[in-house]
Amino acid sequence: MISKKMRPLVENNSAIRVMFEEGKRLAGLYGAENVYDFSLGNPNVPAPSSVNQAIADVLLEEDSVTVHGYMSNAGFSDTRKAVADSLNRRFGTRFNEENIVMISGAAGGLNAVLKAILDPGDEVVTFAPYFLEYRNYVANYDARLVEVPPDTETFQPDLAALRNMITERTRAVLINNPNNPTGVIYPKEIIIRMAEVLRERERTYGHSIYLISDEPYRELAYDGAQVPFVTRYYSNAIVVYSFSKSLSLPGERIGYVAVPEDAEDAESLTQAVVIANRVLGHVNAPSLMQRMLVRCIDEETDLEAYDRNRKLLYEGLTECGFQCVKPQGAFYLFVKSPTADENQFCEAAKKHNILFVPGSSFACPGFVRIAYCVSCDTIRRSLPAFEKLAEEYHLNM
Ligand code: PLP
Repeated sequence: MISKKMRPLVENNSAIRVMFEEGKRLAGLYGAENVYDFSLGNPNVPAPSSVNQAIADVLLEEDSVTVHGYMSNAGFSDTRKAVADSLNRRFGTRFNEENIVMISGAAGGLNAVLKAILDPGDEVVTFAPYFLEYRNYVANYDARLVEVPPDTETFQPDLAALRNMITERTRAVLINNPNNPTGVIYPKEIIIRMAEVLRERERTYGHSIYLISDEPYRELAYDGAQVPFVTRYYSNAIVVYSFSKSLSLPGERIGYVAVPEDAEDAESLTQAVVIANRVLGHVNAPSLMQRMLVRCIDEETDLEAYDRNRKLLYEGLTECGFQCVKPQGAFYLFVKSPTADENQFCEAAKKHNILFVPGSSFACPGFVRIAYCVSCDTIRRSLPAFEKLAEEYHLNM
């Protein structure tokens, strides 16, 4: 018999995965080219060829025992140094390798950080809409996720509401920038004001409140938009980064956690993240990927490809009459459902072989998430189907 804690998770297996399965079913019925599956955030841009080359070179050139061996649980020293140097070059920070822990993607990193800081009954505050796994990650440590309701006009964080929702039990505020599912970027001014709220609440309650910034989409920012680097504005900030999207490596499970030296208890916090990573069973981040990063730390994905998709889909959908905030980052559009019940809208879309995910999967009903990390051709071919869908709701009258 499975545990009581797991039962609801098994029963409510993620709506995104259900959609993915539905996509495969429809493709079997109508042919893959006639199904427009916008349900999954799986990058369609291939990993840069230099990354594949570096993996091959590591295998050919480096000592096999080292490449496939255990290393310090925090990661290879030269990999952590490469990460720290890259951050310092790009963001004017002062990291050294001791401040960096290599982890298994953002999911592994978030779990290690949450395990490191949470006691049962503690609270983590986040802003709706958010990546729903946050709820499970926080529950893993018998803590509670508290949601700040969304501002559905801008999808920027409501800082007055945040202030009211921080309590004695709040250990951390968790943000995701650029944001999944809205594609919105929280600008520097917002982060500065958020930091002021957190400092004030830290003084009130007499303990640290960490700002955890989940950043798998950091490099996916368009039209020159800047993603502020949180440790520059708040010292109790922890950055959780992943190469899943920035180098199209989601299956390889590689990322890092950065803890600035002036965070409270920085040394024991970093140590706790390393040990959490170990006792959670990850032990260390995948070795081959760490070796690759020493050679490829500043490689970039084909941002143009995502940007082309973003423009095509945003323009196509808004011309049909759909409403959505123009995304500045990530690879998602968060579109207002023309009916209050967005599940109904998802069902209607399915009849046109269009698949997307209901906003309730991101704690924000009344919207749907459309992932445009698909081929440009899929988007082009989907537009007539979107037009018919809009006609059904009399949007383009
Ligand atoms: N956080 C957010 C907001 C995500 O969208 C995802 C994946 O889609 C993750 C974390 C997990 O990323 P990773 O594959 O690096 O574990």
